[in-house]
Amino acid sequence: MSYKLFIPGPIEVSAKTLQAMGTPMIGHRSKDFVELYQSIQPRLQSLFYTQDPVYLSTSSSWGMMEGAIRNVTAKKVLNCMNGAFSDKWFDVSKRCGKDAGALKFEWGTPVCPDALRKELSTGQYDAVTLIHNETSTGTMSDIEALMAVVREFPEVISIVDCVSSFSVLPIEKDKLGIDVLITGTQKALALPPGLALCSVSERARKRAEQVPGRGYYFDFLEFQANHEKGMTPSTPAISLIYALRSKLDDIFEETPQKRYERHAKNNALVHAWVAKNGFELFPEKQFASKSLTCVKNTREIDVAALNAALKARYNCVIDGGYGKIKGKTFRISNMGDETEQTISTLLANLDTLLSELK
Ligand SMILES: *Cc1c(COP(=O)(O)O)cnc(C)c1O
Repeated sequence: MSYKLFIPGPIEVSAKTLQAMGTPMIGHRSKDFVELYQSIQPRLQSLFYTQDPVYLSTSSSWGMMEGAIRNVTAKKVLNCMNGAFSDKWFDVSKRCGKDAGALKFEWGTPVCPDALRKELSTGQYDAVTLIHNETSTGTMSDIEALMAVVREFPEVISIVDCVSSFSVLPIEKDKLGIDVLITGTQKALALPPGLALCSVSERARKRAEQVPGRGYYFDFLEFQANHEKGMTPSTPAISLIYALRSKLDDIFEETPQKRYERHAKNNALVHAWVAKNGFELFPEKQFASKSLTCVKNTREIDVAALNAALKARYNCVIDGGYGKIKGKTFRISNMGDETEQTISTLLANLDTLLSELK
């Protein structure tokens, strides 16, 4: 059973990537591993726009999202919430036993820089979490404006989730002053799930030194000590690191800039389709994600029936909406290797099904 995924992760993985995963195994303390690890660092740093190390965590993104909270929150963390993932991050902060504050916004609206400034001005916080691209609602916050606010508060360590926007557009970590930038492999990088990538500033590591209860598996100091030897703290998903190396070859062959342009173009195709078919974007257009489109089901179509037909007839799957907006929205991803042609074909197939559905 094989079909093409247009859901916002996991997404389709190329045959080339899958083949790279089949590379024969090596020991994680071997010279070969050190070479593999060190061979991908410069290109990862380039994609993260950073001089800081990029740690490889064998976990999904949530591992590092939870780990970051445990590493840098000494006093209190502020969780900015505007969708399912960011709402959950607040819950995770509390489950880590941290004092946490909630800054809430309507689903489909971005995190507001002025509201962030007002809350951080209370002086209670020494860490903040932001999700750049709220995948549940297809909403992209203005990370440049938000980081400009966070930089006004030097005691606050910033943790930014770019899980579903990394490699879709440039997120300039060092320039923006992001301390901890986290992504995962199964979104726009088009790898199978199982690895989180996390770049951590020296400031954040210095904070971690003073924070008890960091645990072991996600301890930044363990990652750093091993990074300096070209290794990871425990046995990593070596097959996925081979896949990542292969994908980095692809990305730099295409060039990151061309990749960003391709994603923007494909995203615009979906937006045009939404307008043409009498649907609306779920978020305000200005804050619509560039990685996926969250469509408001204004025509009240049977999204589950549409998706079932899409799968049965065309071997493709879109997403039927997430959490409390399931069915009221549906989502179409344009991440990864999708081209003008694959997106256009999907949209034409959806047109055919929509005309039959009513
Ligand atoms: C997918 C996603 C996550 C969670 O990723 P996992 O790999 O399931 O841990 C977190 N944040 C955002 C914005 C996501 O899109």
